[in-house]
Amino acid sequence: MASTTYDMIVIGAGPGGYVAAIRGAQLGLKVAIVEREHMGGICLNWGCIPTKAMLRSSEVFHLMHRAKEFGLKADGIGYDLDAVVKRSRGVAKQLSGGVAHLMKKNKVTVVMGEATLPAKGKVSVKTEKGTEELEAKHIILATGARARELPGLEADGDLVWTYKHALVPSRMPKKLLVIGSGAIGIEFASFYNTLGAETTVVEVMERILPVEDAEISAFAKKAFTKQKMKIMEKAMVKQLDRGKGKVTAHIEVGGKVEQHEFDTVISAVGIVGNVEGLGLEALGVKIDRTHVVTDEYCRTGVDGLYAIGDIAGAPRLAHKASHEGVMVAELIAGGHPHPVKPESIAGCTYCHPQVASVGLTEAKAKEKGYAVKVGRFPFIGNGKAIALGEPEGMIKTVFDAKTGELLGAHMVGAEVTELIQGYVVGRQLETTEEDLMNTVFPHPTLSEMMHESVLDAYDRVIHI
Ligand SMILES: Cc1cc2nc3c(=O)[nH]c(=O)nc-3n(C[C@H](O)[C@H](O)[C@H](O)COP(=O)(O)OP(=O)(O)OC[C@H]3O[C@@H](n4cnc5c(N)ncnc54)[C@H](O)[C@@H]3O)c2cc1C
Repeated sequence: MASTTYDMIVIGAGPGGYVAAIRGAQLGLKVAIVEREHMGGICLNWGCIPTKAMLRSSEVFHLMHRAKEFGLKADGIGYDLDAVVKRSRGVAKQLSGGVAHLMKKNKVTVVMGEATLPAKGKVSVKTEKGTEELEAKHIILATGARARELPGLEADGDLVWTYKHALVPSRMPKKLLVIGSGAIGIEFASFYNTLGAETTVVEVMERILPVEDAEISAFAKKAFTKQKMKIMEKAMVKQLDRGKGKVTAHIEVGGKVEQHEFDTVISAVGIVGNVEGLGLEALGVKIDRTHVVTDEYCRTGVDGLYAIGDIAGAPRLAHKASHEGVMVAELIAGGHPHPVKPESIAGCTYCHPQVASVGLTEAKAKEKGYAVKVGRFPFIGNGKAIALGEPEGMIKTVFDAKTGELLGAHMVGAEVTELIQGYVVGRQLETTEEDLMNTVFPHPTLSEMMHESVLDAYDRVIHI
């Protein structure tokens, strides 16, 4: 069968792949994208977007319970889980359709099917109608990742769920165990806890949200505990005994193994890259555990083969995937893009209260040998936060005491996932404490706390 030749073939239409395809097309390349399941990848279909739609429902539910505080009346508050899920699936479908439209608009050829790489520069796609052979000088791997399964804790879709099951739940859990307190685990814990599931989170590390600054983790833990979530840190789920409609979890904590019963378990113990079945080993692509090893330009070491997004390793975030996609497309088109700096990629968790951060934690900065100046500002000192009825939260900033460089920013509280971008831009423009202090922040906004936190680091804070 004759093969079709392109300048660039992208495998996987998640936020890494589809953005790379669009940028390549914008730059005049003849582009094809291969997708085996759904346009938009995990992010749009089973990740970022449907979780946020679900969390919006739980947030509104929570606010309805607070109606009286705002001088409002809301009686008979309840929810319809099927309708919550239906809305979330609808949002995902709308956006996935949007990606298909963007492919068309940018004249990117979409090939639906499973791709393999039989040889350098060649892609073979198993489609519904048979096998299609494609060729290109440049191939981008953007095949993403899936839930990690630990032996004994594997999901069965009934009692033990992955994120996919948790997004289309067959029932409302009454007693829920969430294993793992990274962003995915905590978001589901927050959603189900808010809707009334008795929720326990077990984290093997010494604190929940272990990648966050220790003060932010501690603040979030206090807030979750106040919401009646049970948090077990330095604890490990050793075994799950599955019975009829119940699971007995054996949890090791403080040197002892305790047994606790749940009706539902969500396993959120990480994700692994989709590196298998593509033919990568035969091409000589280096794989480290579950990700493809790349250089700072996402090159795999095999001529013309790149890997971006989740398959290329941490941080496994949609915006990192997209940015790498743009960079590689520009590189292929003969441009001179800057490599993506992982330390300037913000992480956001959409629990209640929200958590967001960028750069180094205070502990990491000290570990790296920096003398630091640290600023903090609490939500309770901000007019807009009080007007919104959201006085819980804080913003912490970490500066290099010598140069004034903003090393890291860490936030917990309402809407911080929107605020963090202010500091990301600041870091990108290499602003110093002086620039940030001289910036005028609009009033009344939550963003004023970003200013105050910087002022606090330099003993100039106004409102505390
Ligand atoms: C529950 C959950 C919540 C999340 N929330 C957030 C969030 O709020 N913010 C954030 O930044 N990130 C979030 N993430 C992470 C985010 O979804 C990923 O970082 C992002 O989707 C990675 O994009 P990608 O393009 O690398 O891969 P993916 O989105 O995984 O897309 C890969 C695509 O490749 C396709 N594919 C795989 N193999 C083949 C093959 N052989 N042939 C053809 N097609 C193939 C797959 O079908 C898939 O569509 C979340 C993830 C989960 C699971």
